[in-house]
Parts: sequence; C-alpha cells; structure tokens
Amino acid sequence: MSTPRVEPPVLPVAADWTGSAGFETRDPALGKIVGRYGAASAAEVAHTLATARRGFGAWSAKTANQRCDLLAAWLGRIESETDALAGDMTDEQGKPLAESKAEIGKALREARQMLGFARAHGGQTLPGRAPGWTNTIQRRPRGVVLAITPWNFPVLTPLRKLVPALASGNAVVLKPSEYTPAAAMRLVRAAHDLLPEGALCLVNGAGDVAARLVASGIDAISFTGSVPTGRKIGAVAGANLVPVSLELGGKNAVIVDKVANLDAALDAITGAAFQCAGQRCTSISRVIVHADHHEAAAEGLTRRLSELKPGPGRNPQTTLGPITTQAQLDKITRLVRAAELDGATVLTGGTRLTLPDAPEGLFFAPTLLATDDAENPASTEEIFGPVLTLTRYHSDDEALRLANATVFGLTSAIFTDRLDFANRATAELQTGMIHVNHGTAPDDNMPFVGIKASGLGTGSVGPSTLDFYTTEHAVYVAG
Ligand code: NAD
Repeated sequence: MSTPRVEPPVLPVAADWTGSAGFETRDPALGKIVGRYGAASAAEVAHTLATARRGFGAWSAKTANQRCDLLAAWLGRIESETDALAGDMTDEQGKPLAESKAEIGKALREARQMLGFARAHGGQTLPGRAPGWTNTIQRRPRGVVLAITPWNFPVLTPLRKLVPALASGNAVVLKPSEYTPAAAMRLVRAAHDLLPEGALCLVNGAGDVAARLVASGIDAISFTGSVPTGRKIGAVAGANLVPVSLELGGKNAVIVDKVANLDAALDAITGAAFQCAGQRCTSISRVIVHADHHEAAAEGLTRRLSELKPGPGRNPQTTLGPITTQAQLDKITRLVRAAELDGATVLTGGTRLTLPDAPEGLFFAPTLLATDDAENPASTEEIFGPVLTLTRYHSDDEALRLANATVFGLTSAIFTDRLDFANRATAELQTGMIHVNHGTAPDDNMPFVGIKASGLGTGSVGPSTLDFYTTEHAVYVAG
C-alpha cells in the first residue's frame, strides 16, 4: 500500500458517502501513515445491515454446492492476489513478508478444507417412531452473521469466519480491526461480482462501530479478540439471545520433560513463541522445564533469541517484526517491568529496541524471563509480545499443576520421551488444543478452540464450526 487514499467506511459503498476520513493506520516499523479509512456512521451501519439482509435472501437460495463453487472461485482470486495482500498485512500489522505469505497460504488451505466439510454438512435421518415415519435432522443458515476480528492475523482470522458462514448460506458483515483493515478490504473486494450484493459486507471503524453492530438485529456473532471485549459482546449477545462464538486470549504453556533431544524441543518452542513477534493467541509464553534441564534450556533459549533478527517486515533478513500498536508496546513494557519488580529475572532482552534503520519502529527485544513463582505476572498475564517465561518443575504432578495454573485454556504442548506422561498430559492439560512433541501450530482440519477464559461456544476451522453457523431442526414426517 503506497498511496493512503481514503478508503470507504463500508463495502459495498453506501451511495451517500462523502469520502471523509475516520482513522489512519501506520506502518509500525517505520511510523509512517499507510492507510486512511472512513468510519461508518450509524446510518451507514443500518444501510449495510439492510443490504446484508437482502443479500442473505439471494445467497441462501443457492444450493450448498453452488455456494461452495463460487467461494472456491473467490479463494482462487485471493490466491492470485497473494503478493498485494501480504504487502497490506506487513505494512499495517508489521510481520515479516514471508510470515504474511505463509499466513495467506494457511488461510487458503483451511478455507478449502472447510468447503469440503460444507459440501457434506447437512441433515441426518434417524429411525422414525412408527413404520413409514421419517425423522430427519435438518440444518439451515442463521441469517446475517457479524464477524469481528483483531489485528494480529488480518487474513487468517477473517477467512476462518467468512468461509464457513458463507458456505452455510449466511450473509456476513465483517468488522475488521481498525489497525489492519487493508487486507480485509482486499478480501471483500475480491468477492465482488461473484456473490450476490450484500452476501458479504464490510464495516470499518473502531470499538464503538463494532458495539453498534453487536447491538443491532443480527442473527449470530463470531468474535476473536481480547477477553475484556469478549465479555462485553457476550453480555449483549446474552441479553438479546443471539448465539455467540468467542475466541479469546491465551497464556500457553509447554512442558519440557527430560528429553533426549532438548535442542529439537527448544527449536520448536522458539518458533512457536516468536512468530508474529509473539502476538499470536497460540504463542507459547511459558516454558515449564524439568529442573535437570533448566540451565541448559536457559542457555539454549538465550542463544536462539540472540539469533532472531528484529527489523521492518519488508526487509528479507527480518525474522522478528515490530509490535503492531503503541498501546501493545506499552502493555508489554509495563508487564515485563511488573514481572521484574515481583522477582522475575531478565535473562535476556526486557526493553524496547531502537533500530538504526527503523528509529520510529515499535520494537521490543526478544525476552526471556525466569521465575518459579506461579503468581508472578510473567506466569499469569497474557503479555502478547516476544516474551517467554522459564519455570522449573521437579515432578510430573508439579509440571501439570503449573501448566494448568492459569485462567486461560487455549493451547499447550509437551515434549517428552515417555508415552505414559504424554498420555497423562493429553488427558489432564486444561486447554482446547494439546500438542505432543511439537510446537502449537494447529492443523488445517482440526477444531481451533479454547476453554476457560480462552473461548466460549464453538471454535473455528474443524467440521463443528458449521454447526455454529446453522440452526438445527427436528423434522417428523408421518407415513
Ligand atoms: P480487541 O478485543 O481489542 O479488538 C478486537 C476487535 O474487537 C476489533 O475489531 C475491535 O475494533 C473490536 N472491538 C473493540 N471494542 C469492542 C466492543 N466494545 N464491542 C465489539 N467489538 C469491539 O483485541 P485485539 O487487541 O485486536 O487483539 C488481541 C487479542 O485477541 C489478544 O487477547 C489475543 O489473544 C486475542 N486473539 C485470540 C485469538 C483466538 O483465536 N483465540 C486469535 C487472535 C487474537
């Protein structure tokens, strides 16, 4: 994105839009403005919802296979725009270009897998109550679905919502993060002339615009973001009896047992902790290591962190991009200070970085904190940055107790050479996703789901996602 022209507040564009800017986005590595956007007014929100309602009528009248064929064509267009999309993402979110491209590739693989699930999703016939009777369970689209997304995965998170919702026959209104709307707008524009008008709409703006949409007459809400925002949305949805899926934060632990190949475990942990500068809900943020390996893990991680290359995402050498927003950088700095004040030791990093080639950039040094205190902020708070906490344990019981000592329950991993410990961990780790002997990267066909404060309702990605976007009907036909 080179020219920050003013982008519209809604797609499709409302007829009376004047072109006045509502907010700007900045390249977090270079500090320059890269986008200007209109923020939707109350009238534009109402207009968009009415357009989506009409779009739902036309879109839901198609068969599932017709919809999936059109969505497959849309995914093809998105793929052909990979370079431009990756540029949008890197310029607004900050992640290295290679990571942006990898995100688009993963999003497309998941989306294509979802179309396969959607083509086969539907009713079930059960034995009737009398000869000649049929009992069928049918599913129908819900109507107009609201999708609200955060700034860390500007393509993956929207597609995880749009594809299953649309494939099930719903119209969707997407409200992307006000920090990263460019990629979302490109996705929605790529659907133009493939889908009926209104089947896929986009509304730009910050939390106030999103809150207005939440309180409007929509039929389901799929939200990914922070716990405080999730609570607000859940409260309104509960009052209105609107079904809601909340994908929230994490404080993800990895247990490192006395493994023979510690290096392999540390490599996987470093990858899972520092991609996207640690701004991933599934980032590993706590390493719970057997006391016998504590020193070697501290040394091995410190060395790996020193090998990361912080820099602007468009620099091909960069492996650690900037923090996306000033507010997030301030939060990371505050939490690392709080951890130190509470007794954690900074083994490496711990401060903001000023880079000669990007002096305005929002960089934070890759950081390793050591604490054995499960109450320390380094053990409890979602820092959402390039910060890893190292904690030692002495027994299997203690390792599992420490891993579960968090309000969050998104993902976890264990590295062990013992099958009995692996089996016990898969049964006792209190997270929606559990990985044995690899990092926390989820597969393209498995539920992406959290428990406890990490999520409410159905997750995304796996086949159960389609249940969230459809209503269930028990139909009895007497013979
Ligand atoms: P956020 O909650 O601040 O914002 C997310 C979205 O909600 C944005 O589009 C924002 O405009 C909107 N919003 C803000 N106030 C709102 C309100 N009152 N009502 C409705 N919508 C409102 O989160 P963020 O800072 O953009 O993202 C970071 C958080 O997202 C982290 O906590 C991270 O763990 C979480 N996250 C979770 C997952 C997951 O799948 N579990 C994935 C990515 C990010």
